[in-house]
Amino acid sequence: MNKKKNKNSALKVNDGISQPSSVNDDAVSEYKLKGKALLSADEYMKGILNGDRVILSKSITLIESNLPEHHKLAQQITDKCLPYSGNSIRIGITGVPGVGKSTFIEALGKYVTNIGRSLAVLAIDPSSKRTKGSILGDKTRMEELSTDKNAFIRPSPTAGSLGGVTRKTRETVILCEAAGFNTIFIETVGVGQSETLVHSMVDFFLLLMLAGAGDELQGIKRGIMEMADAIFINKADEDNIQKAKYAKNEYTRALHLFPPTESGWIPVVDTCSSVTKKGIDNVWNTIIRYLRFVQKNGFFEQKRNEQEKYVMYKTINQRLMDNFYQNKNIQKILSETEKKLIEHKATPYTAAKELIDIYFKSVN
Ligand code: GDP
Repeated sequence: MNKKKNKNSALKVNDGISQPSSVNDDAVSEYKLKGKALLSADEYMKGILNGDRVILSKSITLIESNLPEHHKLAQQITDKCLPYSGNSIRIGITGVPGVGKSTFIEALGKYVTNIGRSLAVLAIDPSSKRTKGSILGDKTRMEELSTDKNAFIRPSPTAGSLGGVTRKTRETVILCEAAGFNTIFIETVGVGQSETLVHSMVDFFLLLMLAGAGDELQGIKRGIMEMADAIFINKADEDNIQKAKYAKNEYTRALHLFPPTESGWIPVVDTCSSVTKKGIDNVWNTIIRYLRFVQKNGFFEQKRNEQEKYVMYKTINQRLMDNFYQNKNIQKILSETEKKLIEHKATPYTAAKELIDIYFKSVN
């Protein structure tokens, strides 16, 4: 990154952290922008392309805002940045709370910036009600990285619908790439649906596990394990080394039972320690090996194309569904139809047909 890009340290990213914690995040974001003249979409874009972190942060705040005028501007900025996006390695990192995600991201992140790459760290955690405390938490959890001039840490957007949070993160990725970051980490808490969504926006999906705890105990669903391009058993240090090696064998065996991956890549299972940093280089080398493999066999491009299509169709489905349920005629008749169903006066199919017919009549 050039000097200009490094002018603002990552510490400046979260301008708004001194806002009272009782104020919800959207209010905070909108408050930060209120009263200050907004720039034009072109000005935001130019700032982003110049690697201006203040402008980048402000643009992300616009993406996260729920005000329609901000939303519209954010959309324009994203569209303008789109041609400059796509040139990064996008890595999803997941694991249950306590597995060591932040410590790991700090270790791998420092490794990545030390070899000359620039890194943006984003997070998806739809369950989190971000407060003043946890924003600070995000930064202190990654102490070294947050002062690294080649790293940019953006805590997860406000709690909201999973779809909304995912869209915001996806657009943030575009802006970060346009700003010149060539490595993106997206952290997610490995307990639910958000992994599938993160999987739909990254090139490489990494699952962190602990030794000595069955996967049921770790709350990791089989589906999440199936998505992983690599599983790393973290905390393989001190008297945990043997247990970690044992867990490595267990998970390797477990993965053998899964169907072959679409990419043809055989998921890697290995150990690492985010504290001693042993094995962190191996994590990065694994990612690079994977990328070479999928770039060679065409899966890299295929996956990115499929991700774009997936999002388009998902958006269509969501918009149609929202429109259907917000339709006044549908809202009026819905509980009545449910009653008919329960009283066996209609089958689910006839009831659905009736509702859909009413909907189409009212929109045509
Ligand atoms: P997160 O909730 O997944 O983000 O986990 P944290 O990064 O906050 O780590 C949870 C705890 O595990 C902290 O006390 C860390 O110091 C500790 N921890 C993280 N990685 C390691 C590791 O590799 N080895 C050891 N011994 N402790 C670790």
